[in-house]
Amino acid sequence: MSSGKVKVVEKIFEANDTLAAQIEGRLKDSGVFAINIMASPGAGKTSLILKTIEKLHRNFKIGVIEGDTAAVTIDSDKVTALGIPAVQINTGGQCHLDAVMIGQALNHLALSELDLIIVENVGNLICPASFKIGTHANVVISSIPEGDDKPHKYTGIYRGIDVLLINKIDLLPYLDFRMDYFRQGVEILNPGVTTFELSCKTGEGFDGWIQWISKQVDAFKK
Ligand code: MG
Repeated sequence: MSSGKVKVVEKIFEANDTLAAQIEGRLKDSGVFAINIMASPGAGKTSLILKTIEKLHRNFKIGVIEGDTAAVTIDSDKVTALGIPAVQINTGGQCHLDAVMIGQALNHLALSELDLIIVENVGNLICPASFKIGTHANVVISSIPEGDDKPHKYTGIYRGIDVLLINKIDLLPYLDFRMDYFRQGVEILNPGVTTFELSCKTGEGFDGWIQWISKQVDAFKK
């Protein structure tokens, strides 16, 4: 009986991965680069998205997909207030986005008119790591107030990422956050991962991130 259960779970992941690969191709064919932003609640996902839009909206046409467990539009309202199209996904209590949800959300965006799609995943460090959603880069935001032990405790999410953003560095003087200990933890899981230390609040360190993402979007643009 128990082996039957395992098979069902495997099929769910298989179906999700197949759909994610289709989405990835659909976006690439449209010349749209897409990123999946994952983080704890309060790490600064929405703040980073808003600041990235502020820096990039003159160069690229951007769309945003917002994932939340509750039926709220708090984050997507902030995005649309900037004149940027946003689609809100309510996961109905699920702790992650999956490829089916993203596939449906994309039907509400004019892909041929976009260069970049930013997806804000549901806030936590566990579930989003297990589900591919068809984006081209996985980004994790870690913030100083969360503590320097997170890569030592939540190993899964740091393994498969392309970029790590260490946010709220303006708070370093006030908190006992050992940057070396934090970065050593990440290095074991994901050696040499592209990392930017920045502050969405002060803008310090933001240029490196903007240069990185601009380069990716340019490479995809049609
Ligand atoms: Mg948010």
